[in-house]
Amino acid sequence: GTPADNSSAPVVELEDVTFGYASTPVVRNVSLRIDAGEYVAVVGPNGSGKSTLMRLVLGLLRPDQGTARTFGELAHDFDDGSRIGYVAQRSGAEREMPITVREVVKMGRFPHVRFGLLSAEDWRIVDRALETVGMGSFADRRITQLSGGQRQRAFIARALAGEADLLVLDEPTVGVDAESVEAFYALLESLNDSGITVLLVEHDLGAVTDHAERVVCLDGGIRFDGDSEAFLESEALVEAFGLTTRPGSDRR
Ligand code: ADP
Repeated sequence: GTPADNSSAPVVELEDVTFGYASTPVVRNVSLRIDAGEYVAVVGPNGSGKSTLMRLVLGLLRPDQGTARTFGELAHDFDDGSRIGYVAQRSGAEREMPITVREVVKMGRFPHVRFGLLSAEDWRIVDRALETVGMGSFADRRITQLSGGQRQRAFIARALAGEADLLVLDEPTVGVDAESVEAFYALLESLNDSGITVLLVEHDLGAVTDHAERVVCLDGGIRFDGDSEAFLESEALVEAFGLTTRPGSDRR
């Protein structure tokens, strides 16, 4: 249908969302509003419902109770998939596909073109996306030949080619070598500076507190939601992670 004018709606709006795979809810009474341009990190112990929450935001799961909206529409009905770019923890599917980086990024254009036929302008958008993530010179490489960090950049480029204005990333730097991790976060920050909303699940608290403005700490329900400086002083940090010292404080 014709999208309503939801330009002022929050990018993500969860209202009292409860969800369980079986009888026990793993996400409980979560209310969360994310506005355009925010950079939000979701943290929490293993099994605390972070990936489930992302699936609810992506509309892959429907809440048992409450409502999940993206761009003002119910998440599971939201059909403009290209506005939301999803970067999974090493997805796996691409390992089977011996296709080039440019072909992966091209897929980002599919919601915008008919029959998979790209115009010259579409190809320019693809190449611009590759440049933006610093992968221009790898366009003709096979995706299977890339390092973990390069591959994640390629998936971000695919989202940019689709003109995503929300990036959802679920532990994107697992398996990425240490030097590339910082560059990856620098890229996310510059995309956020350009107006893209970032919703990131991250296990590395140092990365979270260095880069995210806002931290949501989940343990079934939301234990903390506020700025990252306050998170470092919070009980939630101790309760969720058993940490009493500032993450990264021993770094040089
Ligand atoms: P996190 O991302 O914080 O580690 P998850 O959202 O993956 O947490 O998992 C939350 C809980 O839901 C865990 O107990 C997990 O075992 C369970 N769970 C996750 N995915 C499924 C699934 N597809 N089917 C059944 N249970 C699941």
